[in-house]
Amino acid sequence: MSKLSRDWVLGSTPRAPIWADVPAEKWNDWRWQLSHRVNDLEVLETFINLTPEEIEGVSAEDKFRLDITPYFASLIDPNDPMCPVRQQVIPKGRELKAFESMMEDSLAEDRHSPVPGLVHRYPDRVLMLVTTQCASYCRYCTRSRIVGDSAATFSKAEFQLQLDYLRKTPQVRDVLLSGGDALTMSPRMLDYLLSELHQIEHIEIIRIGSRVPVFMPQRVTDELCDMLAQYHPLWINIHVNHPKEITPELYRACEKLSQAGIPLGNQSVLLAGINDSVHIQRELVHGLVQMRVRPYYLYQCDLVEGAGHFRTSVSKGIEIIEGLRGHTSGYAVPTYVVDAPGGGGKIPVGPQYVISQAPGKVVLRNFEGYITTYTEAGDYDPTAIRAWEARVEKRSEPGQEGVLSLLEGKELSIKPEGFDSTHKRGGSEHRLNRDESKWTPYHAGADETAIPLTASEKTE
Ligand code: SF4
Repeated sequence: MSKLSRDWVLGSTPRAPIWADVPAEKWNDWRWQLSHRVNDLEVLETFINLTPEEIEGVSAEDKFRLDITPYFASLIDPNDPMCPVRQQVIPKGRELKAFESMMEDSLAEDRHSPVPGLVHRYPDRVLMLVTTQCASYCRYCTRSRIVGDSAATFSKAEFQLQLDYLRKTPQVRDVLLSGGDALTMSPRMLDYLLSELHQIEHIEIIRIGSRVPVFMPQRVTDELCDMLAQYHPLWINIHVNHPKEITPELYRACEKLSQAGIPLGNQSVLLAGINDSVHIQRELVHGLVQMRVRPYYLYQCDLVEGAGHFRTSVSKGIEIIEGLRGHTSGYAVPTYVVDAPGGGGKIPVGPQYVISQAPGKVVLRNFEGYITTYTEAGDYDPTAIRAWEARVEKRSEPGQEGVLSLLEGKELSIKPEGFDSTHKRGGSEHRLNRDESKWTPYHAGADETAIPLTASEKTE
C-alpha cells in the first residue's frame, strides 16, 4: 500500500447505487446503518450479481446469521465473486458442508467457562462475552454457535455472575470484552460494564476486541471515545483482513480512538482466496501501521462449522511470516497463531531461525539466508539476578506453569493424562514398584529463586 494521502483520508467510500440518495446525516448515523442492514436475497440481488452458489448460501434456512451494514456492503465488487470483502460476508452453499474435525465450539470455550460467557483459559486473564450481536457477520466466525442469535445473548443476571467471579478471582489482571461485538451494545450497558470492571482493584487493564470500526466506522463517535477514555488503561484490537477494508472512514475512526489514548492492534484471520498471500499481507500491514494500528495476531482459521472452505494449510501462514519478518518493519509483523482445537489457547507458529547450537555458540539465519554465529558470554551468571527477582511478586499459575516449570526445575517431566495407569499395564503393586521415592529426582521442586537477601540488601 502506498502512502495514504491527506486527500484520500478526507474522502469517503463510494456507496452502492441503492443508497446513493440517502442523506449524509442518516448514512453517517450508526443507528441508521444498523437498522438498514442487508440480509435478504431480494435486496442483495439489486446491487450484487450473485452466483448460483451464493444464491444457495443466502437462501439456506439454517445458515449462520446474515447481516451486512450498507457501508460495508458498499465495499463489495458486485461483479466479482472473488472480491475479498464479498467472500467474508456473503454465504456460499459450501459453508453448510461438514469437514473432518469440524466442531461447533472448536476452542472448547464453553467448557472453559466457570460461569456463562466468561472464558477463563489462561492464568491471569479472561475473555468476557457480553453480547451475541455484531454489526455484520463474518462467515468464518469462531463463535457462530452463539453469535447472531439474540436468544443466546447474556442476561443481566449472567453479567452479575461474570462480575462476581472476577471480583473473587484476584489472579485475573486483564479482561477482554468480546462476543459478538461489545461496541454494538447500548452505550449505557457498555458504560456500566466498563465501570464495574474498572472498579475491581486487581483488574489492571481492559481490552475490547471489535470489528465495529471496520463494519460500521460511524459508531466511533466523539461520545463513544469520551466514554471509553474514562476507563484507561483500555486497549482495542480491531479486525481487518484485507487492504480493501482500509478506507478513509476506517482511518478516521482509528484516528479518533488513538486520540482518545487507546492503543490499537489488529487481529486478522488467514482466509483462503482472501488474504493467503505474502504480498496482500504486506499491503495490509503497511496500511494498518499508517493508521497507527499494530498488527497483533494472524490466526489460522479455526475448525469451526461453516469455515471449512476458508482454511489454508499451516505452511501458508509460516510462508507469510517468512515474507514479512525482516522484509518489513518489526512493528508490522503479527504473530501467527493456531488456536488449539479443543482448548489450550494460542500456539505461535513461525519459521525457524536457529540453525544449530553448541555450548557457547548459537548459529542463526536471517531473512536473507545470511548465516551467522552468536557467541554467548562465557561468564554469564543467570543466578546474579535472583536477589532482585526475590523482590518481585511472583504470580501464581496453579496447574498452568507449563514448560517453564521444567526450566525452573520445579518438575522433571509433564505427563499426559492417564500416563501412569497406562504404564502400569494392569499390573499390581509389588516389591519393585512400591517405593515412590525411587523416582523422585534429587532437588527437583526446590524453589531455586527463593534465596534470602544478603545482609546489605536487607538494610537498603
Ligand atoms: S465480528 Fe467477530 S464475533 Fe462478529 S461475526 Fe465477525 S468474527 Fe464473529
